[in-house]
Amino acid sequence: MITPAPEPGPPVLPLPPSPTPGCSSAGCLAAPLVQWQRRPTDGELEAVVAAEQARRDQVLAVAAPHQSTPVFGPLPTAADTTIAVYACGSHAISMNLAALVHASSCTAPDPELLPRCNCTPEPPPAPAPVHTDALPLPDHWQ
Ligand SMILES: [Zn+2]
Ligand SMILES: [Zn+2]
Repeated sequence: MITPAPEPGPPVLPLPPSPTPGCSSAGCLAAPLVQWQRRPTDGELEAVVAAEQARRDQVLAVAAPHQSTPVFGPLPTAADTTIAVYACGSHAISMNLAALVHASSCTAPDPELLPRCNCTPEPPPAPAPVHTDALPLPDHWQ
């Protein structure tokens, strides 16, 4: 009995090169211990949008002609994109600051300013409202 050869899958484009995460402090080679988020710079956002556009182009290129055209949402914007910043133990900003999203211009970890940074981080999202009103049980559960 002959086993049919598996169909070759769609071509996979190589992912854009991503630097190995290390401490983001210039010249520091220590392994990262903590991480926080900041908004992308214009150049970083351009790269994110270009990578997403390339992914969409690839999806469209391999889409079967008899299927409906894939529909994509809006391209990423600075408001929904964050860049991870890594730091070793001695270059970490404070835990409270690391919990917030920092501005694209934030230079942390800056050894001159640690454990603070040079930006005003975005306020944390409002806590989800706690549900307090009990919903009525069905009659046959009472
Ligand atoms: Zn470091
Ligand atoms: Zn900052």
